[in-house]
Amino acid sequence: MQDICQRIEKAYQLFFKHNKKGVRPPGFKKVKKYKSFTLKQAGYKFLGGNRIKIGKQVYQFYHSREIEGKIKTLTIKRTPLGELFMLAVVAHESELEIKSTTSKIAGFDFGLKTFLTGSDGTLIDSPQFLKQSLNAIKKASRIHSKKVKGSSNRERARKNLVRKYEDVCNRRRDWFWKLAHKLTDTFDVLCFETLNLKGMQRLWGRKISDLAFGEFLQILEWVAKKKNKQVVYIDQWYPSSKTCSDCGHILEKLDLSVRQWRCPSCNSVNGRDENAAINILSCWGINHWVR
Ligand SMILES: [Zn+2]
Repeated sequence: MQDICQRIEKAYQLFFKHNKKGVRPPGFKKVKKYKSFTLKQAGYKFLGGNRIKIGKQVYQFYHSREIEGKIKTLTIKRTPLGELFMLAVVAHESELEIKSTTSKIAGFDFGLKTFLTGSDGTLIDSPQFLKQSLNAIKKASRIHSKKVKGSSNRERARKNLVRKYEDVCNRRRDWFWKLAHKLTDTFDVLCFETLNLKGMQRLWGRKISDLAFGEFLQILEWVAKKKNKQVVYIDQWYPSSKTCSDCGHILEKLDLSVRQWRCPSCNSVNGRDENAAINILSCWGINHWVR
């Protein structure tokens, strides 16, 4: 009840805020479309032996991991396949994993063919999982749309289609986690330009959602936090390569092909990437670059 009230409150606040733009007030939703509900302190009891009592009913569950700390909320979630998941939010003093310092810093760029380009020369190719499965998804989608609405054949085809999509997501997420661990093992500070995802999507279309940079950054931030490493975001317009890290002189223009340049003001020689990395490190001292 508590949580439902909060959800409705949230929906109405959004409605009041945006109703001039034609947003409609929250309405009723079919049970079928209801994807989750949240229990706060009451309404459930763990019985031991992987059993939980919710309301008057006892359910058996599979433990994906130990629940550590005090449970604050418990959310029951239903996926489009009809599988049920139980998510526990806990208050827990997280212990940092053993800190291993590499004193290495690198800046990264997202790209289409190459998922990540590191300033130290690291290249990580984009696996494009969606592209690999696109034919299978198209076929499943075609079969689904041909079935009679409301029939059990259509339901079976829908589940088949959903499974194909989930497969892509799972493989991608697995790859993201592994990559996040690899990068945080190699570097202490990882720099990214703040991304303009909406603009990129317009430019490149489907591929961008296949790459899902945003999801990757979330995972990376989490892994970095655990390992006491830093993920730093730099303003897109900060001229990190064009600014002399010695005296602060800013060049008018620096061609992408130029790997090294001599500062006209102080005469020091700057290697493109090292120079950018030093600049990022020094502005990293200013707190607002760090998220
Ligand atoms: Zn200079």
